[in-house]
Amino acid sequence: MKTTQELQHHRALDDVIAKIGNAETLAGRTAGSVDLVAVSKTFFADRIRPVLLAGHRIFGENRVQESLQKWPDLKAEFPDVDLHLIGPLQTNKVKDAVGLFDCIQTVDRPKLARALAGEIERTGRSVRLFIQVNTGEEPQKAGVMPEDVDSFVGQCRSEFGLTISGLMCIPPSSEAPAPHFALLSDMAGRNGLEQLSMGMSADFETAIEFGATCVRVGSAIFGERTKPQT
Ligand SMILES: *Cc1c(COP(=O)(O)O)cnc(C)c1O
Repeated sequence: MKTTQELQHHRALDDVIAKIGNAETLAGRTAGSVDLVAVSKTFFADRIRPVLLAGHRIFGENRVQESLQKWPDLKAEFPDVDLHLIGPLQTNKVKDAVGLFDCIQTVDRPKLARALAGEIERTGRSVRLFIQVNTGEEPQKAGVMPEDVDSFVGQCRSEFGLTISGLMCIPPSSEAPAPHFALLSDMAGRNGLEQLSMGMSADFETAIEFGATCVRVGSAIFGERTKPQT
């Protein structure tokens, strides 16, 4: 039996949650309609546990290998964790990813979609899937090109039998994010997709104004990362 534990305050988390609430209100959105994915990449369990003890349960990581080192233990301790993969996924890591993650936000090519479909079918695991869109058409960035989104969504559904929950994007860091958020929202709407994963520490309030249902916030909760990350 679990004993009732008092939630511990985590000031940075509280601040972000309050800002999300304000942004929802300003945008005329329902309170609680935006999920906060706390991006814990590069941080060890000692920094993640206080956020869990504050009652937060949705987390994001960008590397499968790193996640395997910390999340199996944390998930054993906090079984209702909802873990999202927000970084690129190689097909040789699909098995590990489907075993560990509850949501994979970075589906971006047929080979990966096919491998995910096979592994989900084999294991019976329920994993929510988002398609990552390269809205800025940056050569070095992962994601489906905007012009290919409609056909890729169709292929995931008809050829691989996948349920796609929504779209995800990471706008170019040098550009205003709003046009990218608007573009992603358009593409989701015309494909009948309800979920939009967009917005990070610097721009999550703008993303909420443009319809984000999921914001991915790292440094505003955990502090600056020492290792450079893409
Ligand atoms: C690191 C990362 C984030 C969080 O970035 P912050 O600026 O620290 O909030 C969000 N999304 C993705 C895909 C990331 O890799």
